[in-house]
Amino acid sequence: MAKIIDGKQISSAMLDTVAAEVAALKAQNIEPCLAVILVGEDPASQVYVRNKQRACERVGIRSVSHILPVDTTQQELLDLIGSLNADPSVHGILCQLPLPAHLDAQQLLLAIAPEKDVDAFHPVNVGKITIGNAKLLPCTPAGVMEMLRYEGISPAGKHCVVLGRSNIVGKPMALLLLAADGTVTVCHSKTPDLAAETRRADILVSAVGKRGLITADMVKPGAVVIDVSINRGEDGKLCGDADFEAVSRVASAVTPVPGGVGPMTIAMLMRNTVTAAKAQNGID
Ligand code: NAP
Repeated sequence: MAKIIDGKQISSAMLDTVAAEVAALKAQNIEPCLAVILVGEDPASQVYVRNKQRACERVGIRSVSHILPVDTTQQELLDLIGSLNADPSVHGILCQLPLPAHLDAQQLLLAIAPEKDVDAFHPVNVGKITIGNAKLLPCTPAGVMEMLRYEGISPAGKHCVVLGRSNIVGKPMALLLLAADGTVTVCHSKTPDLAAETRRADILVSAVGKRGLITADMVKPGAVVIDVSINRGEDGKLCGDADFEAVSRVASAVTPVPGGVGPMTIAMLMRNTVTAAKAQNGID
């Protein structure tokens, strides 16, 4: 049976480390601060924002929430981001996605100052990730790397297969695995024989968002399976892309959903906020 990689436990250890760093910064009169913008009343987004606020409280980061009505205009948001960019007491800015359809998310993400872009979505930060000298790393893929590191699983020399090529998960995931000396294959909806690719994976990372996509016969015996996706099962419960029970009998290690990558994403956001606060105060 595979080892279950416990994202709650690993993220909790990370949050303890971040809390100690926050305390050290506060002793130097620097209070790390994260500003969160939420537009509209999407229930999932409300839960995500609440969880981020709770994580801030836990580690001692000041959080400022801007909860705005669904009919907020692009200009109002640009003005808000402009004022947060100019506010030296704010170190990180996060605009919760998805945004209502009338808003141009790309333009808003571009407006966030790269040094305050704690989601690492700005093209300047994406470019740095590509070059390999980024300080702010995209939270979900960086959380996966942290899990692997914690478990002593090195991608070096391994064949890593990433399912999904989104800008938020798949692409940066592939870049981080590549930077860690993995040999990386990226699959997507036009990949002709998905199973042939997944069966070659020593480390399989799935970020597709399709329940039941990964069956046990698609997994190489002894592989590590990281399930990023968050889907709803027929029973209404959360699940990933992998058939967890069956894959657990083939893989050497596997992440559960929930309790796997999800908590890591929030812990990385806290770490990025501290990294941003340090950089903006000339501390490395
Ligand atoms: P996305 O933007 O919808 O991207 C999905 C990707 O999957 C696309 O690249 C798509 O290919 C590919 N795909 C679709 N069908 C496929 C198939 N049959 N075989 C192989 N690839 C296929 O989603 P996302 O934002 O990356 O998120 C992916 C999942 O991760 C979602 O379930 C999301 O909820 C979850 N997520 C979790 C966290 C966390 O903290 N745990 C954070 C972010 C996202 P094309 O490019 O060809 O369309």
